[in-house]
Amino acid sequence: MMSHCQKTIKKEVAVAGIGLHSGQEVTMTIKPAREGTGIVFARTDIPSVPEIPARIDHVVDCHFATTIGNDRCRISTIEHLMAAFSGMEIDNARVELNGPEVPALDGSASAYVMLFREAGLKVQNRARRYIEILEEVSFTNGDKKVTLSPCSKFCVDFTIDFEHPAIRAQRFRGKIDSRTFRKSIARARTFGFLKEVDMLHKNGLALGASLDNAVVIGAKAVINSEGLRFSDEFVRHKVLDLIGDFYLLGAPLKARVKAVKSGHELHCNIMKFLAETPAAWRLSGSEPEYPDRLSRWGYPVVSPSYGLAASF
Ligand SMILES: [Zn+2]
Repeated sequence: MMSHCQKTIKKEVAVAGIGLHSGQEVTMTIKPAREGTGIVFARTDIPSVPEIPARIDHVVDCHFATTIGNDRCRISTIEHLMAAFSGMEIDNARVELNGPEVPALDGSASAYVMLFREAGLKVQNRARRYIEILEEVSFTNGDKKVTLSPCSKFCVDFTIDFEHPAIRAQRFRGKIDSRTFRKSIARARTFGFLKEVDMLHKNGLALGASLDNAVVIGAKAVINSEGLRFSDEFVRHKVLDLIGDFYLLGAPLKARVKAVKSGHELHCNIMKFLAETPAAWRLSGSEPEYPDRLSRWGYPVVSPSYGLAASF
């Protein structure tokens, strides 16, 4: 049952690049970690080297990117790296950064996947634990919706619909395992609209974004001279974001996730709702420390401004 054991990387690997939103150059070093650690980030540019576990209870912002933090520091745009950890089935790792944001590299997860392949994967001595959904749960905000239902695998069905000739309606459906992730999802890049650049810059966002790390969409078409990596690269990137976000549950998810126009905010809200609704899920295996960890999640369940449509 080797494939059901936890994994880490075999050796330390490092990469440098700029953050998508901050534009700041950051060096990221990823180190092996022992069984049961999970994914933990650390800021080495701060004297006390504060650590932040990559879990939903540490998410402090999820508007344009997923940011984790505590009273001492923040680390933003973790979702593509988290997707690579999830997709490559890496349970335990320590991510050290000397700045506030994960390097964007090419705007997809493919460079992180290459880093993990360079490091090699190490099978550890403890069983993987999965979060299994027991009852259908859904969360709605306007025309955006995400639904989790019971499934023995991790399956995603994502639909987007943009009123733009370069995108329109796109749908991706499939079981997500490491092969599907590497072949069909990891290379899909983040994207943005040229007309929104001024607004984003005024809000201190997308300062590091360029044609090197994002698909940029003009009035009628994609501006990047190389074009798209997949004809439906946009929905594939949304699936990548979803995979990264749901790894913040702290364990791999076994569920069918049906997402319509959803994003980081809706994903975070349904995860917070799950954390407060123990009847809707269970953790496979019987690791003594884990249920205790989950029970310590303490935050406001959901913002009252969101229409909650959960049913059991
Ligand atoms: Zn993204």
